[in-house]
Amino acid sequence: MLKGIQVKSILNKHKKRDDWFLDDYSVNPYSGCSFNCIYCYIRGSKYGENMAKTLSVKVNAPELLEKQLKRRAKKGEYGIIALSSSTEPYMPIEEKLKLTRKLLEIILRYKFPVHVLTKSKLVLRDLDLLKEIDKNATLPDDLKSKLKHGAIISFSISTLDEKLAKILEPGAPAPIERLKTMRKCKKEGFLVGIDNIPVLPFLSDTDEQLNEAIKIAKEYRANFVLVGALTLFGNKPADCKTLYYKFLERHYSELVPKYKSLFRIFFQPTKEYQKELEDKSKKLCERYEIKNGII
Ligand code: SF4
Repeated sequence: MLKGIQVKSILNKHKKRDDWFLDDYSVNPYSGCSFNCIYCYIRGSKYGENMAKTLSVKVNAPELLEKQLKRRAKKGEYGIIALSSSTEPYMPIEEKLKLTRKLLEIILRYKFPVHVLTKSKLVLRDLDLLKEIDKNATLPDDLKSKLKHGAIISFSISTLDEKLAKILEPGAPAPIERLKTMRKCKKEGFLVGIDNIPVLPFLSDTDEQLNEAIKIAKEYRANFVLVGALTLFGNKPADCKTLYYKFLERHYSELVPKYKSLFRIFFQPTKEYQKELEDKSKKLCERYEIKNGII
């Protein structure tokens, strides 16, 4: 049964704006995530191996957000809110609970801008509110000349291979559905993009695969693409590094030594790998005339 929890805070203020997603704040209506992606960085003993089973709802989120945004708005501390950074705001349960929707109503009331990060077409339900936010939000002063939207909607895709996506993101909608949803959002006038994160070494990072990922983002009318490498944390049973290696051993055992030499003892692949990925993405974005960043 889905658990309800009371939290002490719902609006997290970052020390510094995120360079990629441009968020100054984040709001996570749920704790855990039923999409259950194997590579998910939030994984760990708190959520267990099956995050769909340990999912909980932050029942006092609307009341807290109201208080926290009211205070920030009074001081003029406007900033983009990431919805969400460590859960999916549009899991199937949201259809019934409408918690994300309630939070968007509050965000609209206090005129804060948002960046919706999702893998789900359920975001389409809330385009009415997001359109109002897009028009009426107050952007932070330093972004006013660079960004003309109060709402950004981006969709994360780690692979276009449907079979691989089903194994790695067992609860999430298919990548093609995410692309189609993005195109619908674009038609409605939103600033939209693909978060090509995490790119999976040896599984979705060949030149052809990267080319295809950026080409298809352009075809489905993304304004921008963000490309980022896989990160693997922890050694405990429910950590993403442990689960990801289990997945490799089961489906691609020949890749295990390659991953070990790429990651060594670190949570990120080598600097050279990251630089190469960044350079390739930049070139591909130029080729397809698509932005390699939101602004
Ligand atoms: S959708 Fe996002 S938050 Fe949910 S499991 Fe996947 S990566 Fe984690």
